[in-house]
Amino acid sequence: MLDIKNVTRSYTDTQKRVDVLKDVSLAVSAGETLAVVGPSGAGKSTLLHIMGGLDRPDGGTVALNGKDLYRLSDSDRSRLRNSTIGFVFQFYHLLGDLTALENVMLPLMVGGDLGSRTRAIEAKAVKRLEEVGLGGRLDHKPNQLSGGEQQRVAVARALINDPALLLCDEPTGNLDSASGNAVIDCLFSLNARENRTLIIVTHDEFLARRVARTVRIKDGVLGV
Ligand code: ADP
Ligand code: MG
Repeated sequence: MLDIKNVTRSYTDTQKRVDVLKDVSLAVSAGETLAVVGPSGAGKSTLLHIMGGLDRPDGGTVALNGKDLYRLSDSDRSRLRNSTIGFVFQFYHLLGDLTALENVMLPLMVGGDLGSRTRAIEAKAVKRLEEVGLGGRLDHKPNQLSGGEQQRVAVARALINDPALLLCDEPTGNLDSASGNAVIDCLFSLNARENRTLIIVTHDEFLARRVARTVRIKDGVLGV
């Protein structure tokens, strides 16, 4: 479902060029659970953003279900991203003024005439929050939730569009091991049930051990 070929990406700092990704190729099948593991600075976040249509590579191609992401127009790429991909980030990225329920509803609340759809969206969001064990926290704001709970809200939000591909960047990076495990349990159980493709980038070797397939990345080079 995801086919990355010969991707390169570099940044030019004040004087010197940093090659962050060097000829990265990777194929991921539908329904697969994959961890990309490597130390800090290895290029994991850069790779995840490129996979998700958020950052254009300097060279190479990224095909999602046969569509070359970076040959699409910006609006077509955004549309494909919104309908196909869910993201979970290390620092949750929840909106502080919104409740857990509103945060989860948000991705579906775009576009003009919501009217009668709002109730259906709310029902869907409640169901997602129940699935991650937060049915009793619907009206809590992020600052009334623990880190692990906030990340489970973020998981519920990432799943509200029923994305075929779920991309997670250090989803446990800011959590103690018990709450981190609860987040991973949520991701895995939802995934097994719904046959999504799950890609996690992390420096956490413990998390990597729970995943069926692991690839390593170091200094922008992908290996097994
Ligand atoms: P990881 O997620 O594995 O820690 P990143 O993909 O965030 O690694 O970063 C890899 C390298 O690219 C680092 O050396 C980082 O400093 C550099 N880098 C990332 N983003 C930028 C940017 N926008 N401008 C310049 N350098 C960047
Ligand atoms: Mg990173």
